[in-house]
Amino acid sequence: MNNPLYTPIDYISGVGPARAEILRNELKISQLRNLLYHFPFRYVDKTQFHRIAEINSTSTDLQIIGRLQNLKELGEGGKKRLSAELIDATGRVDLVWFKTSDWQKNKIKELLNQHVILFGKPQLFNQKISFTHPELKPFNPKEKLEGILEPVYPSTEKIQKKGISTRVWQKIMTEALNLARGYIRENLSHPILKNYNLIKRETAFEWIHFPPDIHSLEQARRRLKFEEFFFLHLSLLVQKIIGKRNYRSHAFLEIGDYFNTFYHKHLDFELTSAQKRVIKEIRSDLGKEQQMNRLLQGDVGSGKTIVAFLCMLMAADNGFQSLLMAPTEILAQQHFDGLKNQADKIGLNIALLTGSTSKKERKIIHENLENGELSILVGTHALIEEKVKFKNLGLAIVDEQHRFGVAQRAKLWRKGKKPPHILIMTATPIPRTLAMTLYGDLDVSTIDELPAGRKPIKTVHRKDQDRLAVFNFIASEISKGRQAYIVYPLIQESDKMDYKDLMDGFESVSRYFPLPKYAVSIVHGQMHPDAKEHEMQRFVNGETDIMVATTVIEVGVNVPNASIMVIESAEKFGLSQLHQLRGRVGRGSEQSYCILMTKDQLNETAFRRISTMCETNDGFRISEVDLELRGPGNVMGTQQSGLLELKIADLNQDKEIFLAARLAAEKVFDSDPLLQNNENQNIKYFFEKYHLKKIGWANIG
Ligand code: ADP
Ligand code: MG
Repeated sequence: MNNPLYTPIDYISGVGPARAEILRNELKISQLRNLLYHFPFRYVDKTQFHRIAEINSTSTDLQIIGRLQNLKELGEGGKKRLSAELIDATGRVDLVWFKTSDWQKNKIKELLNQHVILFGKPQLFNQKISFTHPELKPFNPKEKLEGILEPVYPSTEKIQKKGISTRVWQKIMTEALNLARGYIRENLSHPILKNYNLIKRETAFEWIHFPPDIHSLEQARRRLKFEEFFFLHLSLLVQKIIGKRNYRSHAFLEIGDYFNTFYHKHLDFELTSAQKRVIKEIRSDLGKEQQMNRLLQGDVGSGKTIVAFLCMLMAADNGFQSLLMAPTEILAQQHFDGLKNQADKIGLNIALLTGSTSKKERKIIHENLENGELSILVGTHALIEEKVKFKNLGLAIVDEQHRFGVAQRAKLWRKGKKPPHILIMTATPIPRTLAMTLYGDLDVSTIDELPAGRKPIKTVHRKDQDRLAVFNFIASEISKGRQAYIVYPLIQESDKMDYKDLMDGFESVSRYFPLPKYAVSIVHGQMHPDAKEHEMQRFVNGETDIMVATTVIEVGVNVPNASIMVIESAEKFGLSQLHQLRGRVGRGSEQSYCILMTKDQLNETAFRRISTMCETNDGFRISEVDLELRGPGNVMGTQQSGLLELKIADLNQDKEIFLAARLAAEKVFDSDPLLQNNENQNIKYFFEKYHLKKIGWANIG
C-alpha cells in the first residue's frame, strides 16, 4: 500500500493541479507530509466578536457581526471591483473584493441587507478601516457557538488569489489529516514520551491543526517543539563526534617555565575566577592529543586577551608556536603592542604580520617562523596566506571570529602536519541556546565576570535638541582629562549620505571644540590605512580629546582613558553593535558614559533597542533581546545552514524545551550511540531518513 504521506498535493481534494502549483512555488509544499508541517500561525476563537469601534489597523484577523449594505460594482475592465459596507451599532467599515467570479459575486449578493459574520484582517485605507477579500457567512442567532479554535494559516497574496482562503485552508487540512491518519509514525522512544510527558506524534499533528481546546494546543506545540529540538541536538552530537574522530593534534603535556614565570612574577593583576576557570578548561583540552576546537566567549572588557596569552605560553612551554589573528589592522597592532610588552618580560619572540608589513620585514618573519625562532605571530588575515609557513604551529587563536569566514578558519588547519588547536574568541555575546546550535561543533568556555573595580557604564538616551547639553558634558569631562568617542553610522562604506553626516558632524564638533584648546581626530573607512593608523595612534596617546569616527573602531580598540561614547543616529545600529561600541569605554577606573543620540520619533523595535541599552550592561541579556527582535538567522550576520531552519520551535522562547530535549538527546546518544536498542528504533528510522544527510554521516565511517 502506498504511504499517503508522500501523495503529491495535487490529489488532495480541494487542491487540484493549479493550486498545487502555487503551493509548491510559494510555500514549497509538494507532498501531503509538507502540508502537515504547515502549521497555523494563529487561531481564532469563534466565540469572540469585535465591535467596529474597537478595531484598529493593527488588529489581526477577527470576526464582526454586522449588516451588509451598499453593495456596488465599481471600476472598468481589469480594475473592476466589488465594494460594500458592514455596519454594527458602533460604526461602519468598507469591504472590497477584486476580480470576483460570478459565483462569488452571487454569493455575496445573497447576503445583502442581512446580518452576517465577517472574518478578515482590517487595514487602514484613506483614513478608514477596510477589509480586502473578507469572508462572509450568514449570521444565525439561534446557532450555538462552541468554543472552537479555528486555525489561520500562513499564506501569500498569490495563494489567496487562487481562492485558498482561511476556510479553504481548513478544508484542505481536514482532508490531509484524514488521509494521513494511521500513517504518522512516532519518532520518539517510549521512555522519552513518558519522562517528558509528551503526547503521541499523531495526536500532536491533529491538535496543532484543530485543537479541541487551549490546553490540547499547548500539548501539541510542546510535543512538536520537543521533537524538533531533539533531532537538532542529536545531529549536533553526531557532528561533534565526527569532528573529534577525524582530527588529531599535539598534546601539550607540561606547564613549564614560560607559563610559571609569567604567571607568578609578571602578571599585573589577579585573574578573575572566571578567567581561571576557562584557563583550566582550555588547559585540559590542550593536554590531549585530540584537537581542541573551543569558543571562548566573554563580554567586552572581560579580559580574553590575557587568557589567550597564557595559552600561548603553554604552547611555547611545549616547544610549539602560536598565532593570534585579529580582524583589523588596528586591532592586530594593538594586540601586538600589548603582547610584546608581556612577551619581552620572559624573553619570548613575537612578531606582527599584516598587509602593510614591508617586504624586508616579511622575509625575516618568514625565516624565523620556519626555523622556529619566532614563538608568537600576531596579525590579520595575512597570517593565513599560503606563503606563511610555520615550523610547528600548535595553537591558533582567532579574535572576533564572526569577521572571518569559515573557509578562512579551515585554512588554519592546514598550517602544519597536524592541525593546531583552535581557540576562537568572541565578545559578541551569544545566548546559550544559539551558541550550542551555531557552534555545535565547538566546545564553549565563557568568561561571565568582569575584572573587579570596573564601574558600570551609565547609558542615557538623548535627542537632537539635547545636543548642546551633551557637548557641554563632553567639555566638562575633557577638562578632567578624559577623552570621548563620537561615532556615526556607516552601514556601507560607500554610502554617501552617511559619509556626509559624518563630515557634517565632524565640522560641528570641531566648531564647538576649537583648536588650540581642543584637538579632534577623525577616522573612517575611506581613509588610507596609514592615515587611519596615525589618527588612531594620536588618540591612543592622548594627543587628541575627541575621536569622531565611523564603526571602524567598533571591535577591540582599547583606550582606557576614553570615558564617553556618543553614538549618533543610534536608532540605525543593531543591538550587538551598540553593545560593542559601548564596550570601548568603561575600560579604566573612571566612571564612563554612553550617550545614545536619536531622532525624535522611533519605531517600536528601535525604541526597544535603545531602552534595552539604557537598562542593562549585560551582554547576554542584550543578545537575548537581539535574538528576540531579529530572529536567530540574522543574529550572526549570516543565515546559517539548514540546521537552524526550525519549523515550530523558537530558540529564544522555548529555552526550557530546548534544554530538556538536549538532555534527552544526550541520554540516548551516550547510552546507545548507534541507535541499536529496540526502544530507539523509532528515533533511528526518523534520524536516518531525515537528518543524516544534512550533517554528512558518511564521514563517520
Ligand atoms: P576583551 O575581553 O574585551 O578582549 P581585554 O582582554 O582587552 O578584554 O581586557 C580589557 C582590559 O582589562 C585590559 O586592559 C586588560 O589588561 C584588563 N584585564 C584583564 N584581566 C584583568 C583582571 N583579571 N584584572 C584587572 N584587569 C584585567
Ligand atoms: Mg578583545
